[in-house]
Amino acid sequence: MKQRTIALIAHDRKKADMVAFATKNKRKLEKFKLIGTGTTAKIVKEKTGLNVKAYHSGPYGGDVEIAALVVKGKCDVVIFLHDPLEPHPHDPDIKTLMRVCDVYNVPLATNLTTAEIILNSITK
Ligand code: PGA
Repeated sequence: MKQRTIALIAHDRKKADMVAFATKNKRKLEKFKLIGTGTTAKIVKEKTGLNVKAYHSGPYGGDVEIAALVVKGKCDVVIFLHDPLEPHPHDPDIKTLMRVCDVYNVPLATNLTTAEIILNSITK
């Protein structure tokens, strides 16, 4: 069976949460192909040793690149720990990513609890 792909994206004030999530779930996550926006991918890789393919940083188009992979059927799950309390210059890109997840029925977690539920439901 084709290895499924999970995208990891975290806004700056959520990066520590993403590292904690990835550390806790390392054994589960290493069964998947992991991709992420630039800084998130770099930090998760550095802190956990997981192999995360880095796309551009979010504000420089990384969310759009991951949205394109969702459109092409090349990204199966998106874990996007977004910060609801801060404005973001790339808000249109964030909305694009969330929108295409809904268009293509791709599971999208926007907080840690949902991320855990989705990951548990796709692993044993
Ligand atoms: P980053 O991008 O992982 O490069 O920080 C995340 C974002 O801001 O969408």
